[in-house]
Amino acid sequence: MRNFHQDAVIDEFEALTKDRSGVSAEPGTGGRTDPESFKACVPLVSHPDLDSYIRRIAAGDSGTTQGKPRYVPFNDFCFRMRCRVFPHGDGKALKFIYGSHEVRTSGGIVAASVSTNIFSSDQFKRTMKDIQSQATSPDEVIFGRSFEQSLYCHLLCGLLSYQEVQFIYATFVHSIVQAFRTFELVWEELCANIRDGVLSPKITDPSMRAAVSKLLTPIQLVRVDPELWPNAKYVHGIMTGSMEPYLKKLRHYAGDLPLLSFNYGSSEGVIGVNIHPELRPEEVRFAVVPDIGYFEFIPWRRIPIGLEEIELGKEYEIIITNFAGLYRYRLGDVVRVGGFHNSTPELQFVCRRGLVLNVNIDKNTERDLQLAVDEASKLVATENLEVIDFSSCVDRSAEPGHYVIFWELSGEARESVLHSCADCLDRSFVDGAYITSRKAKGIAPLELRIVRQGTFRKVLEHYVNHGASIGQFKNPRFIGASNAAVLRILCDNVVESFFSTAYD
Ligand code: AMP
Repeated sequence: MRNFHQDAVIDEFEALTKDRSGVSAEPGTGGRTDPESFKACVPLVSHPDLDSYIRRIAAGDSGTTQGKPRYVPFNDFCFRMRCRVFPHGDGKALKFIYGSHEVRTSGGIVAASVSTNIFSSDQFKRTMKDIQSQATSPDEVIFGRSFEQSLYCHLLCGLLSYQEVQFIYATFVHSIVQAFRTFELVWEELCANIRDGVLSPKITDPSMRAAVSKLLTPIQLVRVDPELWPNAKYVHGIMTGSMEPYLKKLRHYAGDLPLLSFNYGSSEGVIGVNIHPELRPEEVRFAVVPDIGYFEFIPWRRIPIGLEEIELGKEYEIIITNFAGLYRYRLGDVVRVGGFHNSTPELQFVCRRGLVLNVNIDKNTERDLQLAVDEASKLVATENLEVIDFSSCVDRSAEPGHYVIFWELSGEARESVLHSCADCLDRSFVDGAYITSRKAKGIAPLELRIVRQGTFRKVLEHYVNHGASIGQFKNPRFIGASNAAVLRILCDNVVESFFSTAYD
């Protein structure tokens, strides 16, 4: 293993986090570098404000960026933090990662998702090798054109390197759950491939086939032990926020392996790192790296304040200014200050700002929806069933409108149970305005719609076909009116629906 100056990396972080006001107070605009001038000169923006500019850049206008990226040995640092708690041996990682398809814009710019750019960078590959985190799959699998084939080959490569695997990873843990659900279906075929040294004919992508076949020689007669990856130390990935609904299943698959939350970041920039790898996903906090961007925070209905002003226990929406030239961008995430590391805040992810179920004065967030689904899914669990995935919308086709919850289940549940689930969901929204409106019939009974198995897979495929990256996929928990295509997929696959009688 390359000798990192691990103490130097950690010392640098320690020094950096001691003075959050110093490092974050230099946003820099035309010579004026104080935060007040910055706020006065630069308006806050959200994605719709920038959409037309992004299209112009894509069409060939030159986009200028200002600021000099500070090189942060980010992966080294995070690896060191992890190793303090979960020491690594020499080895690799079973990574369920997927490069998305690159597109060439009308202006000739090649655009790809952030994760695709990262996975294909030479520096990233070198670092991964150095920190014993190289993927067990070759690039041909990671960048394969078919998701199904890549997933199958990821599993196969992970099994072939079963002794080397130090941890199991996906950027968003939805991909790990999805991989193990598939594993349950294809394990016999995988074993046969390993036994015979011949790759399944369903892998038709020529370069993937060639790369994986090279690894698969009949001499490698691996016995698939009940403990498949005996040297794995933990399961790693983003498991907070919209990934929380998959935690239960992830724990089931992880068995005794600890779950280690990945960092908090976005395509717009890294925000915070998990410097407490030992914390359970429900408790994890992300320490802001103060000089990796310029951060501001919007308190509830108030004007933005700086990193140095935010307070313990309060909730804020994040604004990011990054080195790539994005200024004062409203990320749409709400976070709570859960503590401090030196003087930099440690943030807990709360929810996405825009995701609210709302018919009149009621307001239920993604988190409220998740809590309601958690509660109601206990009823189907008594039937040995689980909620594979869920989403929601508001149906205003009749007055008054009502909440609709879509569920995909792992099998068929009895009608009486699903009726109780609809009641339970309805009662679990504890927002005072919702309860009052429901009692006063200002909101009609909640409707639980059960969709066919495989429906949420179709939703994923829809996004992927429109250029989204599988690895960054987050199932939309609320389908707004502007998302008619996804709503159609869900509605077309409804097999039965149940109205709540909770407030009759
Ligand atoms: P993307 O646009 O694909 O880069 O995704 C970025 C978004 O993913 C963030 O704005 C968050 O909403 C979510 N996200 C990223 N990291 C985390 C995390 N550790 N916990 C919860 N949500 C996260």
